[in-house]
Amino acid sequence: MLNNTALFRQACYLNGQWVDTELCLTITNPVDQSVLGTVPSLTVADVNRTIEQAHAAQTDWAAITAKARAKILNRWFALIEANVDDLGTIMTLEQGKPLIEAKGEIHYAASFVEWFAEEGKRVYGETIAQTVNTNRLSTIKQPIGVCSAITPWNFPAAMITRKAAPALAAGCSIIIKPASETPFTALALAELADQAGIPAGIFNVITGDARTLGAPLTQHPLISKFSFTGSTQVGRTLYEQCASTIKKTSLELGGNAPFIVFDDADIDKAVTSAVQAKFRNGGQTCVCVNRFYIHDAVYEEFLEKFAAQVGKLRVGNGLEQNTDIGPMITRRAIDGMQVLLDDALAKGARQLVLGNEVAEQGNYINPKILVDVNDTMDIVHEEIFGPIATLIRFQDEDEVLAQANNTIFGLAAYFFSQDIGRVYRVAEKLESGMIGINTGMISNEVAPFGGVKQSGLGKEGSRYGIEDYLTVKYLCVDIA
Ligand code: ADP
Repeated sequence: MLNNTALFRQACYLNGQWVDTELCLTITNPVDQSVLGTVPSLTVADVNRTIEQAHAAQTDWAAITAKARAKILNRWFALIEANVDDLGTIMTLEQGKPLIEAKGEIHYAASFVEWFAEEGKRVYGETIAQTVNTNRLSTIKQPIGVCSAITPWNFPAAMITRKAAPALAAGCSIIIKPASETPFTALALAELADQAGIPAGIFNVITGDARTLGAPLTQHPLISKFSFTGSTQVGRTLYEQCASTIKKTSLELGGNAPFIVFDDADIDKAVTSAVQAKFRNGGQTCVCVNRFYIHDAVYEEFLEKFAAQVGKLRVGNGLEQNTDIGPMITRRAIDGMQVLLDDALAKGARQLVLGNEVAEQGNYINPKILVDVNDTMDIVHEEIFGPIATLIRFQDEDEVLAQANNTIFGLAAYFFSQDIGRVYRVAEKLESGMIGINTGMISNEVAPFGGVKQSGLGKEGSRYGIEDYLTVKYLCVDIA
């Protein structure tokens, strides 16, 4: 199935070596739970050694120029692009998303490597006006040191490069623990990092029990910075673990994105964007819509057109050409959605019949639309992380803003309006790190990705993304 079978690695990549252990974890395909392969189950001692090696290697990596690092990173970028078909296939096999989405993610993942290779050359210090005639004040920026990252299964490639590329460009080393469900994409990226000539110890991928390995990654004194993408609940725990050694921390956590359609919106555009923003990756992204707020005057039109489009989405194996929604990652994830669904139905929500239902066996779940949804239902407040759309009617702008902001989360928000005054008013009042206005697609490498409130800390991508991997050092020179 792969053109280059060397990309399918069943070993960890530690200090430039492929390392195996006797104790292994079995990785399965979410389509049918068939076994794809195994990965090592590392111990804390293995991770501690890797951290020490990453620390030793980082000095030389920081000492070469940003331009020299960029040259190596650009080779990694080119190799990722050249292997997009195989990387996409590996991702679909372990994660389930449709192949076209998987390949799209590989391009997205590669774009961070290209972007940060360039940004590494644009790290600027500053000079500061002297406070007396005899001093000169300035700042320099330096790599923060050894970094660690824990990444999720929903974007098995992009969440790695979004952290590793700025770290490496800045002159840091990094140890990545990919999600337990999706290690093979990460290990394929490591194979290409090796081929690109990234020196031993600079980019490391570890596998094993998440909780066990999470401890050294968040507590080892040689690690200066920890970056996490995942749920708010786990993020809170890991943030606490980082406190003992005062690590710089980036957290990209859960969301509860509202999608508001005002009465002056272009409805056809809103409908198409709604389908993209809700059902991409089967609804399993942190910026997926969790709540649709539709103005009373356009509610019926929106619902009719939205249901028609959702009714055409095909559920199936991501490797098959016509699939729009692959299997959910685990049965446990579906059980969680069912609890939210049952609560909403018990409190008066209605589920529409869409006409494209398949048998909901294994990890397959049909896309669903719930209407008559209200604020008393848990589904409005908790991240669904699946293909269930909830629709709520509203009458006026202030009312919908209050509802949209009534959440502990603040990652993405979307709204549709053609009134320029309203566009700025609403954008400024929504409590979210990212706002899609007349679009459902907001992610790219050049813009700052990140949330406010309990959706996280820090920005990834963009010119801000590298700052988290740098420290500012202030120099005060007495010239008298
Ligand atoms: P998701 O719902 O996306 O799996 P999680 O927050 O549960 O979100 O997991 C995100 C990542 O964090 C995964 O790589 C998972 O293996 C890891 N993880 C989960 N719990 C812990 C923990 N207690 N310590 C360290 N890593 C963890």
